[in-house]
Order: sequence, then structure tokens, then C-alpha cells
Amino acid sequence: MMLKKVIQNNPQGIVFRALEFTKKTHVGQTRKTGEPYYIHLEAVAETLLEWNMDEACIVAGLLHDVLEDTETTYEMLKKEFSIEVADLVNQVTKFGIVKYRGVEAQAELLRKMMLSLAKDVRVVLIKFADRLHNMKTLGALPPQKQKRIALETAEIYAPLAYRLGMHRLSGTFEDLAFPFIQPKEYKKLLKAVGQKYGEREAYLERVKPVLYEALAKNNIEAVDITFRAKRLFSLYKKLYKYDMDLDRIYDLVAFRIVVKNIEDCYAVLGIVHSLWKPLPGRIKDYIAMAKPNGYQSLHTTVFCLDNKITEFQIRTDNMHTQAENGIAAHWLYKTQPNRRQDINELIKESEWVSRVKEFNENEKAENFIEILKTDSFLNRIYVVTPQGEVRDLPYGSTPIDFAYRIHSDLGNEAVRARVNGKIVPLNYCLESGDIVEIMRQKGKLPSEDWLLFIKTHSAKDHIRQTLNKKGKRLKNRVRG
Ligand code: MN
Repeated sequence: MMLKKVIQNNPQGIVFRALEFTKKTHVGQTRKTGEPYYIHLEAVAETLLEWNMDEACIVAGLLHDVLEDTETTYEMLKKEFSIEVADLVNQVTKFGIVKYRGVEAQAELLRKMMLSLAKDVRVVLIKFADRLHNMKTLGALPPQKQKRIALETAEIYAPLAYRLGMHRLSGTFEDLAFPFIQPKEYKKLLKAVGQKYGEREAYLERVKPVLYEALAKNNIEAVDITFRAKRLFSLYKKLYKYDMDLDRIYDLVAFRIVVKNIEDCYAVLGIVHSLWKPLPGRIKDYIAMAKPNGYQSLHTTVFCLDNKITEFQIRTDNMHTQAENGIAAHWLYKTQPNRRQDINELIKESEWVSRVKEFNENEKAENFIEILKTDSFLNRIYVVTPQGEVRDLPYGSTPIDFAYRIHSDLGNEAVRARVNGKIVPLNYCLESGDIVEIMRQKGKLPSEDWLLFIKTHSAKDHIRQTLNKKGKRLKNRVRG
């Protein structure tokens, strides 16, 4: 729909020319669904428009398959469009060539993603839009292929989108992959949840007027009050943690209140708490302390009407866009070229990207994939340094993991840890919100026993490296 508008506004513009070009070059080709090929290209361009991408990116989206599937060459794209467009298409095409199978192929794909991220975010976003449409039409492929593509989507694309703050896309990737990966579980859950969703929504519909009235009394204008049904796959993951008991999932359908500014967010939180008693330990202030992927919101869970436990998420309009589209939301500032540079810098410097990039080509592919799975696919906790900086760690992390996350020297020299002001054992299981302080002793070596309880791979690697180095040095000294 948006594509049509863009072309209407500029009938002979570059977007129009790209659409004509791609239709002509792909002529006669069809998708597995039987549709003409350009339907796919239009869908990709629509998605990129939804994410507010710039013109070169939209054009590259329309052309993203011409180098692979037609006689078109890089030089032709450069001449016909621009070097920027030709480069984008060229980089997207490089993803298509996967040398390996299985785990190695996944690792290779991930490496390519990382390298592209560091160069130009738009390449990965085109790849995301491409995969999104491919997942929506996955039913048309043979079953063997379906499963492989669905797994790749859930294990590589979804976590990566999450890391870039694209929550909506990440959830969509998982939900589209779920029925192909675990068809039985999917059907079972769909059946169990169907009725519950309905009940919850009818209930929230009753809460809504109470909420509106209270806000009006306090002169707060809500931009929007909606409910958000929990994503099916994310629900499935959570149910595993709660013995598959649906009644213990409080955010099955949650309220989402969007207001104009940050002051109003806190005011609304106060109003909700004055109406209904909050559940202890469930108030989360991601405004004062954003999640590392940029997510901001206030969360609280209260004993709502009829004493039903209900989750509320409160945020501003800006935060809402950011939460839905993450890194893509930054492209709203596309009129400011400097900002674009910032985003690329931001990604380049991101801790996670650099950690994945640290893995060199010779590293075993299994390790590489493990990192992605354990460090980002499962739940993460958010802990705080004494200076108030947030660090994210995998669920089950200990003060030693935290210390290594701050700095490898701090990890090596850690002797004691204080959590929320109290001394705890070094194998203490950290929780979100914990303030962690590490006490060190200069020149101390890490203990091999730590390997038995720590969670993060980077900490394990550092400990092994340090101990190996020390071992070598000792031997040298004996010899010398
Ligand atoms: Mn494609």
C-alpha cells in the first residue's frame, strides 16, 4: 500500500524505475506459491517502508534478487541506479551463497550478518524483510526445506532482531517458525490458549473504562490504551519455566498504556497503584534503566479488578515506536545523515556484536552457535554496577560472570562479591535489578573451580586462557 503511494507521489522516480526494472528482469519467474516473482519484491519493499527506511534501501529491496536470479550485473545496477544501491544489493546477494550445511552453515550466516551489521545496517534489514516474506509463504515449500528455514529463522534471525531492539519482528519470526519446528506443541498450545485469550480480553475490556476515568480525573491524556496478547512462542518458552500452567502467566494479555511524556508515565504508574495493589517485585523501571537493546517502559503487575493479576506496560509514543521497531526506528531521522553514521557506530560498538566478531574463522561452529543460543535466545537478567550501569547476562549468571563482563582483569582478580550491599558466595545466582560489586585482589589468578558454576562463554574462555598462559609461563621459568 505504501509503495503505491510513494510511486504516486513521484511517478517517474527511482522507486518506480526500480519496480519496472525488477518486474522486467524477473519476468516469467514465479514463487513456489505460484504467484509472479515481483509479489515477493513488493512485499520486501513494503516492509522496508514500514520501517521508515530511506529510498536507496527501498530500491535495493525491490532489486535484492536480481543479481542472484537474473542476468543483471553489478555494473548494470551501478549505471542504472547508483553505487549505493548496487552495493546494497551486492551485499544482500552474498548472504545467499552458503558453503556449508547444518551448524556450520548457521555459523557462517551469523558471521556474515555480523560483518554486514558493522558495515551497513540496511543490508541486514533488507535480509530481515526478505526472510519475513519467505516465512509468510513457507507453507509452499517442501517439508524438509520448511524445517531447515524455520529453524534458521528462530535461532539466528529472531535473536538477532531482538538484539537490534526489533521486538515485534523478533516475535513474528518466532511465531512464524513455531508451527514448522514443533507442529504438535504448536497445535496443543493454540487450542489451550484460544479460550483463555478471549476470557482475558473480555476482562480487560471491563477494566478499561475504570482506567480512563482515573486518568481523566488526574488530567492525563492517554494517547492509546490497548491490550497486547502475548506472542505464542514467547508464551511457550515461558510455560516451560512454569510447569506448563497457563494460570500462572500473568501477562498472557497485558495492558499497554501510551502517554505523551515521561512524567505522565510515572503519574500513570502511580494511578494504577492507587487503584490496585501491586505485586511485590514486579515493578520494573526500564525508563530510568533501559534494557541494553534500548527497550524502555514501566512495567507493573497488580491485583486488578476482582483480584485478578494483571500486567501493565506504560510508555511514551517514542518509546513505543522504538520498542516495536528498534534500530529501524532510528531511520526516522533519515533526513539527518549524521544520525545514520551514529547508528552504524552504535552497532559497531555494541558489546554483543564485538563479542561475536571476536570468534575467528577457525573457531568451531558449534561454539559459535552456542554463544548465540545461550547468550541471547534464553532469558537474560539485567544487573547493575555500583555506578548504576546496566549489564545484561544470561539467566543463572553469577558474580564471576558479571566481573568478567565488566573487565577480564576484574574477573581474574575477583575475591568477593557484594550484592545489594550484602556479601554473597561467588557462585550466587544473580537476579534482575541486583546491584553487584566485586572486590578484587591485585595479581590474583582465577580459580579453576569457577568453571563449574559460571554461565557465560566469554568468562570461561578468559579463565582458561589466563590459566593456560600462567601454566606456560611457569613451565618456562622451570626450564630457564
Ligand atoms: Mn528474496
